[in-house]
Amino acid sequence: MSFAVLQSGLDQRAEQGLLRSRRTLQSPQSPHIVVDGKPCLSFCSNDYLGLANHPQLIAALQQGAQQYGTGAGAAHLVSGHMQPHEQLEYALADFAGKPAALLFSTGYMANLGVVQALVGKNDTVFADKLNHASLNDAMLLSRASIKRYRHNDMAQLASLLEQTESSRPDTEGCNPLAREGRLDEHSRTEGYRPPCHTRRRKLVITDAVFSMDGDLARLPEILALCEQHDAWLLVDDAHGFGVLGERGRGSLAHFGIASPRIIYMATLGKAAGVFGAFVAAEQVVIDTLINHAHSYVYTTAAPPALASALLASLQLIEQGDDRRTHLQQLIAQLRNGLHDLRWKLMPSATAIQPLLISDNRAALDLSNKLRERGIWVAAIRPPTVPQGTARLRITLSAAHGLADVKHLIELLHELAR
Ligand SMILES: *Cc1c(COP(=O)(O)O)cnc(C)c1O
Repeated sequence: MSFAVLQSGLDQRAEQGLLRSRRTLQSPQSPHIVVDGKPCLSFCSNDYLGLANHPQLIAALQQGAQQYGTGAGAAHLVSGHMQPHEQLEYALADFAGKPAALLFSTGYMANLGVVQALVGKNDTVFADKLNHASLNDAMLLSRASIKRYRHNDMAQLASLLEQTESSRPDTEGCNPLAREGRLDEHSRTEGYRPPCHTRRRKLVITDAVFSMDGDLARLPEILALCEQHDAWLLVDDAHGFGVLGERGRGSLAHFGIASPRIIYMATLGKAAGVFGAFVAAEQVVIDTLINHAHSYVYTTAAPPALASALLASLQLIEQGDDRRTHLQQLIAQLRNGLHDLRWKLMPSATAIQPLLISDNRAALDLSNKLRERGIWVAAIRPPTVPQGTARLRITLSAAHGLADVKHLIELLHELAR
């Protein structure tokens, strides 16, 4: 079979203004970068605190590599779990205010692993329709029933939870240790007892800060519903960790909520400026992940030096109130400066400030015009966002100066004319 079918697929995407391509940075990540040989002011990285090129992190990474080498050499459960990993997990659990934490190589893998390990065929996952792709993929992989609710629609979430029965009585003589819905290898052996109808599990999964919109999930209300209906709650704080809440502790701290039923996940490649992700939760949840999360078990541990760098990053995050205050100033400056623009900023109080353009081509066009003038803002188009909501996703970083944001505001006004 020839690959022509693939080419026509790509051609079709290109016609719709949806073809994706990459640009190459010749400098470290920062607001002032060199791209494809040219200097450029960037508003499209998730390095919210400006730590991705911080000297203390670089030094910690070098030190970690000196002491522990480059590769972990094996999965965590084999021989790849090293001292810096262990230390970082303790520090992250402490930071998140949870009994235990577990490192994953990426946030994508953490979400796949958590959902797949905690729910299966007979269980139900409840998901916001604007959740990140990794949560969407995770629920499909888990084979649980899927109930999606309209973005932040608490009434719909409540009614979906109500409709889902949570338990069925156990049949007599069943085996409580066997898991329902799993391949049962022993069904022909003597003394076989079928698995009990275990309690149906309910898991609500949500972004804390929605990655393409910048708005917050209504976490206190979601938690109350989870308590009322005895559901677990997975919170993906990829964009809140390090940025929101007291000392950068994230979205849960921002709302002042905590509960054992919350499974907290955050990424370490965004505000933390390095790479990786972690899950913080009750010890029994972490032990379950260590035993059942495929994306944890069947993959090589991340380089230990990354954990060394992340230990340094965690300290800078905790001491980063000045960075966070400056970031808030920039957000206010941008929103004030663009309030009378032809295109509207979507309602967001976070570092993610999407400018709604609607049309795919117009969004791409505006992004290209900015680029010609030395400013890089990514155009986000379907399927990453719903049809008809193409946008420029402006992300601000504490590393931006007031003059950088002023420059962007002026240029957008000029292009709107
Ligand atoms: C970036 C992101 C992820 C994936 O994290 P990686 O570490 O980049 O794999 C997961 N969830 C959300 C909401 C994200 O924005």
